Amino acid sequence: MTSDTISSFSQLALNIPLLKALDEVGYETPSPIQAQTIPLLLEGRDVLGQAQTGTGKTAAFALPLLSNIDLKEKDPQVLVLAPTRELAIQVAEAFQKYASHMKGFHVLPIYGGQDYSGQIRALKRGVHVVVGTPGRVMDHMRKGTLKLSNLSALVLDEADEMLRMGFIDDVEWILDQTPEDRQIALFSATMPQQIRRIATKYLNEPEQVTIKVKTATADTIRQRFWPVSGVHKLDALTRILEAEPFDAMIIFVRTKTATVELSDKLEARGYSVAAINGDIPQKQRERTIDQLKQSKIDILVATDVAARGLDVQRISHVFNYDIPYDTEAYIHRIGRTGRAGRKGDAILFVAPREKRLLHSIEKATKQKIEMMELPSTEIINDKRIAKFKQRITDTLATEELGMFYQMIEQYQHEHNVPSLEIAAALAQILQGDEPFLLQNKPQRSKGRDRESWDKEDGGRGRKPNRRDRERDRSQRRDSGPEDGMERFRLEVGHDHEVRPGNIVGAIANEAGIDSQYIGRINIHDEYTMIDLPADMPKEIFHDLKKVWVAGQQLKISRVGEGDSQPAKRKYSKRKPGRKPTDDKSRSDKPRASKSKPKKDKKKKAKKRAKDKKAKGKRKTGDAKPKKRDNKT
Ligand code: AMP
Repeated sequence: MTSDTISSFSQLALNIPLLKALDEVGYETPSPIQAQTIPLLLEGRDVLGQAQTGTGKTAAFALPLLSNIDLKEKDPQVLVLAPTRELAIQVAEAFQKYASHMKGFHVLPIYGGQDYSGQIRALKRGVHVVVGTPGRVMDHMRKGTLKLSNLSALVLDEADEMLRMGFIDDVEWILDQTPEDRQIALFSATMPQQIRRIATKYLNEPEQVTIKVKTATADTIRQRFWPVSGVHKLDALTRILEAEPFDAMIIFVRTKTATVELSDKLEARGYSVAAINGDIPQKQRERTIDQLKQSKIDILVATDVAARGLDVQRISHVFNYDIPYDTEAYIHRIGRTGRAGRKGDAILFVAPREKRLLHSIEKATKQKIEMMELPSTEIINDKRIAKFKQRITDTLATEELGMFYQMIEQYQHEHNVPSLEIAAALAQILQGDEPFLLQNKPQRSKGRDRESWDKEDGGRGRKPNRRDRERDRSQRRDSGPEDGMERFRLEVGHDHEVRPGNIVGAIANEAGIDSQYIGRINIHDEYTMIDLPADMPKEIFHDLKKVWVAGQQLKISRVGEGDSQPAKRKYSKRKPGRKPTDDKSRSDKPRASKSKPKKDKKKKAKKRAKDKKAKGKRKTGDAKPKKRDNKT
């Protein structure tokens, strides 16, 4: 069986509790990266995966590694290293979600800026999977609170981000302390030379996994995108639906559950809509598609599987509510419109973390996707008023209103109220509790355009990247901190061989500042000047004093008062009552040797595969790993 022929999770040798959880979360088919990676990791192979966020890479490593977990063992068996605390939390949540039927399973996220004691308590109780940022993982290893002697697998997630944030030495230090026969999966959106070097040095005859880029032109389809994520998607969608003239629309989401949820929400807002997904019997799906053809419904909310081959000429719009896993799926999706020589529209929601996928899609469709204007509150309200007036005109033209004339006339005489007031009262009755006009501010932020959006969030997937900005920071002429920024001094400099990346990485994680908000960095021999947002909370300032970078405590101090507006919300919120950390990250203790003999690699891989099989057999209820020749 090749990855192309895998169309359901049950074809993969995952254990039963995982398959049950996947069914509950509503995943219909493995994404391409999952179909390729899962069998390899189940077999005990090392994997070098080039995959971006949005491709389903988390499940690609979490599912097979969970399938191989021995719940009776209490020391960590899997360690995932992630560049940021947000990603660490997200990955830990994904493990928890997939392991919901694995009784007694524990995963623990550990990251900087968080109290140690809770993490230590949890580690003592026993965890199967640890997901952490490199600095904090190193700290726990040094303290002896994180023991990795039982580790069977290690994942480097977003390795290129870890490189950019200056964590790569830490990552190598950690790799050097783990058992030699552990399995490694390395995921990276790009493969810079340093990442390749790590792969060559530490991975054991890895299998390379990449996502195919299928190209196609889509001349008849106008493609637009809107940057939005999470709960704001529904609001953005409803605005677009109100303002965008469309005949019929297909909205793509990722899960079976999402088809039903979104369809219910749109129905409640008055749209004629239906959901189709792989769980809905074929007959019923056909009926729904017929209804769409006959204009009985206008919107279909569908998964990729359910919409395969769908051919309905009146579909004028394809809405990618959830971004597809790869360009091939995108091309399939948008091919549902622009049929029979007509013009079509494709709209795509892109979360900041999914920027790279957007760029891949542009490359594959050989078209720049324009950033759309989200309809303003004014436009929406004008549309609502126009529609309301039209309903009055249509009703006056087509309905028999005699009985109502009499009633209104009667009311007018009895109460001596002008007909205008009566009409207004009736409109209010018709409207019910829902406000007629939209009150909130438009989502479209002023001055936001494609170019500035590309640069936001570290410009992931686009040049110039964070490294360029770091260079810019150092090169920019010193003219004092910019608006909203304040200058700080750090007691680490060239003499300690510090690089901007080390500082950005440490501050981003320990202070919870997105690295885009870290300003100019000027490294001198003994110290560094850095511009940070001017509203740094006291406890973060306190914590940062103690953070270690390149063997030095930062001992951060203020250089001058920023005279400008505080830059709100740049520091992530901390839980009330949390104690300041006694962080000693990035200690100056000598690093362990990074070189590791390559000999016996093949032998070890074989032994590992054998051990895994034996482990798999011990577990009751687990499907056995699929037999395949081990290529090592
Ligand atoms: P990732 O690329 O790991 O960040 O995953 C992106 C999103 O895709 C997450 O919200 C996952 O829950 C979702 N996802 C991952 N695999 C699947 C799948 N096979 N079917 C549907 N959704 C998925």
